[in-house]
Amino acid sequence: ATPTALLVGTGRGAQLGILIKGPEILEQTRAVDTVVLDKTGTVTQGRMALVDVLAAPGESPDEVLRYAAAVEQLAEHPIAQAIASASTSRDGDTGADGVVIGSDQAHDFQAEPGRGVVGVVRTAHSGVGLGRRVLVGRPTWLREQGIDTSGLQDRFDAAEADGATAVMAAWDGSVRGALVLRDPVKETSRQAVDELRALGLRPVLLTGDNPGAAQAAAREVGITEVVAQVLPADKVAVVARLQASGARVAMVGDGVNDAAALASADLGLAMGTGTDVAIEAADLTLVRGDLRSAAQAIRLSRRTLAVIR
Ligand code: ADP
Ligand code: MG
Repeated sequence: ATPTALLVGTGRGAQLGILIKGPEILEQTRAVDTVVLDKTGTVTQGRMALVDVLAAPGESPDEVLRYAAAVEQLAEHPIAQAIASASTSRDGDTGADGVVIGSDQAHDFQAEPGRGVVGVVRTAHSGVGLGRRVLVGRPTWLREQGIDTSGLQDRFDAAEADGATAVMAAWDGSVRGALVLRDPVKETSRQAVDELRALGLRPVLLTGDNPGAAQAAAREVGITEVVAQVLPADKVAVVARLQASGARVAMVGDGVNDAAALASADLGLAMGTGTDVAIEAADLTLVRGDLRSAAQAIRLSRRTLAVIR
């Protein structure tokens, strides 16, 4: 491999919106045969929209949304952004129940990656430092906290089976409602998957989301291999398992929760529209956030190295 040809290759990559960390990475790029794709923000737009609020018996959907939003406005996940921006309440508004919504109105906030968020929401009746402990997240996680989710479980499961992403909201030890969200597939994802397959790569969809939402997205883009409901820490294990079976794995992702898998894959590709943590962990950045650039990077590496040999 002549250094000049490799430099020309990386230069051409930059023109195409593919930032390559070093010329030697083109070798790794050419060698991959399996491509693991993160779902949220990579295959899908990563912009969730709230489409429904389910309320447990005796609860109001409006209240469920306002409490959930009060906590989620302190979080960064696409789920959090959708819930926070869907809440009609403005900063400082007080609802009929005396709940004040404002960025300073939830305290003791904590995010559990891949599980959910918790915070204490102040009401008009609670003094400073007091309030209602609100949890928003996966039912399995809520149950671990001793919350009975059975009152809403059937409707929740139906929403997931229908391809949505849903989280439950709970306070005072009971589930109060659920927020149903959808995240559309990017327009170019289907074509990108077709191109990757045409290059001889085996696509695998990897997500922390539920199997229903994962299957719906996979079907839309034409992927048959799906690994769903994977905790952030376990994404690495999925990559390792594929590598142990002899695969040369490229991983494409955008989130903080993808960083370790991007670093441990044979080739890590970060969406330029994603988090800095993912970009730092990856070998290659797809500046345009367009999955078709992943196929383009592979073609580029093959062409560059074919010229060299
Ligand atoms: P992905 O791989 O799709 O980016 P994550 O691992 O980030 O997914 O999240 C997986 C699941 O964890 C979500 O589908 C949701 O159930 C839960 N979750 C993560 N962040 C939040 C949040 N801010 N609020 C509520 N639930 C959350
Ligand atoms: Mg993601």
